[in-house]
Amino acid sequence: MTDSALDDARRLTVIDGGVDAKRARAAVAELLDALGRDTASAGLAETPRRVVDTLLELLSPEEFSATTFPNTEGYRELVLVKRIPFHSLCEHHLLPFRGYATIGYLPGERLLGLSKIARVLEYFSRDLQLQERLTQQIADWFETELKPRGVGVVLEAEHLCMSLRGAQAAGATTVTTAFHGELQDAGPHRAQFGLDGKNA
Ligand code: ZN
Repeated sequence: MTDSALDDARRLTVIDGGVDAKRARAAVAELLDALGRDTASAGLAETPRRVVDTLLELLSPEEFSATTFPNTEGYRELVLVKRIPFHSLCEHHLLPFRGYATIGYLPGERLLGLSKIARVLEYFSRDLQLQERLTQQIADWFETELKPRGVGVVLEAEHLCMSLRGAQAAGATTVTTAFHGELQDAGPHRAQFGLDGKNA
């Protein structure tokens, strides 16, 4: 990723206004208190600190540099990485959603280091997210940074806000997709993403 692109991406993901951990801990204590819990009890004494540390870990994307190299062999077929595990935090309920991503692209003039595909996913996952937006952000990143002939992103995740409350649909997964360029239309390359149930 170029420096300016990284800045742009970080602007999308870093918490607005910076982090005030002390205030966050006080707010968690206040929340527990408002929920009628005894924050002075031994079990809860360290909870505000733990909650804030956990949230900061989940919401702090690691910077990375996207190593790309020229497609000197003229590889034209799909580069596809399947079932990359990921987790994120739902911005509506602050509960996790987690599952697997399948990400692929049809190379143009440059290739991306394979391990970097998972790093892109992780980078955008470490945020208060919507699965739909996360899917789109990853596809957009590829389009902007790699300029492939096509890119496809499929995320399949279980949302704890759906499993544990509300509909209580335990085990149900949500699938979101983004297909750009030559992968926009159905065809043999797109079938490799497994959405037709035959290649999953
Ligand atoms: Zn939710």
